[in-house]
Amino acid sequence: MPSPQVIASGSSLVGVTTTVPLEIVLAAGQTPVDLNNRFITAPDPAGLVHQAEEMGLPATLCAWIKGIYAWLMLHPEVETVIGVTQGDCSNTHALMELLHLAGRRVVPFAYPHGRDRAGLVRALERLAGELGADLARAEEIRRQLIPLRLDLERLDQLTWRDGRVSGAENHLWLVSSSDFDGDHVEFHAKLKNFLNQAATRPPAPPGPRLGVLGVPTIITGLHQTLAEMGAAVVYNEVPHQFAMLPPLTGPDHDLTGQYRRYTYPYDVFHRIEAIASEARRRRLDGLIHYTQTFCYRQMQDIALKQRLDLPILTLEGNQPGPVDGRTRLRLEAFLELLA
Ligand code: SF4
Repeated sequence: MPSPQVIASGSSLVGVTTTVPLEIVLAAGQTPVDLNNRFITAPDPAGLVHQAEEMGLPATLCAWIKGIYAWLMLHPEVETVIGVTQGDCSNTHALMELLHLAGRRVVPFAYPHGRDRAGLVRALERLAGELGADLARAEEIRRQLIPLRLDLERLDQLTWRDGRVSGAENHLWLVSSSDFDGDHVEFHAKLKNFLNQAATRPPAPPGPRLGVLGVPTIITGLHQTLAEMGAAVVYNEVPHQFAMLPPLTGPDHDLTGQYRRYTYPYDVFHRIEAIASEARRRRLDGLIHYTQTFCYRQMQDIALKQRLDLPILTLEGNQPGPVDGRTRLRLEAFLELLA
């Protein structure tokens, strides 16, 4: 399994607040560090949120932002942070200002409105310029990463087609692909070992097939709880997007095309199309839409429920911690409804 707290170093570390074109970071000879993954896999994520509040961040702010901020304050070795100023989080601007105050180098990156190709080309060029990377080298790295992404696709198939990789494992591997735990070579080697071992497992018993939509959950053990209740999560929407899975070759399959197909930073309707297509392909019975307290993306719940033709349970999480009793009851009721 990936081990997200291991940060391969030796090159300078570049923190990222969400998935960005990591091929450009690698082309600059730098090491990407997904700050969300570092925060949530820290020994005491709830303690980090508390520390951020003691540093002055409001109680009415998303816990992911507070956790990232507190983690960064403990890790001055992450000197540069790429902040996605359009297409990610409404709180990023203020977070970037605080990081600037704390002496970090802040590099903005904006996904263009409307998935505009020319706008994205300019954004990639600007990021490459800021980091001192050559875009042609970034494209070469994109091609070098294709075998790794194909193996992540195999992992995903072992989840939804073969039932040999659990929803929790699927989530962890795919969500880690935003920075490949800082070392894509080692990550790929670990993935190959995992796939060899997983391919020999017996398939999981049949049960309701679920998709989890929305930002990665701050609740620990959601997938495992569902598995204990007899359901299988066979689609993790946003982690699946982070992994940039095939098709990876053909027309429009360059760096720009890859980050245009990525649905998360653009409008909800493009996301809904991708979810509907995966729901059909994976024969889903129901969807769980995870939302984060104080997150503007909670509003998208209305569009998801209007446009997706499957039962949807909306779950809201606030602080890091295990699945609580109320959530457990709601999950049980939802599974009964599906049955
Ligand atoms: S959950 Fe929402 S508010 Fe929190 S960091 Fe993610 S996008 Fe921002």
